[in-house]
Amino acid sequence: MKSQILKGDTVLVRRGKEKGKRGTVKAIFADSWQATVEGINVVKRHTKPQQQQSNMGAAGRNGGIVEKEAPLPISVLQYVCEACKAPTRLRRGETKEHRRARICVRCGEPARESAKGA
Ligand SMILES: [Zn+2]
Repeated sequence: MKSQILKGDTVLVRRGKEKGKRGTVKAIFADSWQATVEGINVVKRHTKPQQQQSNMGAAGRNGGIVEKEAPLPISVLQYVCEACKAPTRLRRGETKEHRRARICVRCGEPARESAKGA
C-alpha cells in the first residue's frame, strides 16, 4: 500500500489533539507510515549549542529549546485539494502530462506531482 499523500501537500488532521487543523506535509516516513506536518503536533526539543544549525530555526543558534513537528500517522491525515480547497480523496487517472496522475475526486483537477525526494 502506498500513500496518496506526498511531501508538500496540504492535509487536514482528522483525529487526535490537532483534529481539524490544516498544514503542509514536511516529510513522509514510509517505513513507519508517518508524516510530519508544518505547525502540527509541535513538540519542544532540547538542543545542545554545538549542534548543527540546519533547520533548527532561531532558537537553535545558542542551543536551548526548539519546537519541532513530531510525526503523525498518515492514516489520520486527509488530503486537501489545492483547487477546490476541500478535504478530499485522490484517485489515479490519466492527464496529458501523467499516465497515473493524482486526481481530486471532488473537482476532477489533477494534484501536483511529487516533489523531488518526496
Ligand atoms: Zn478538488
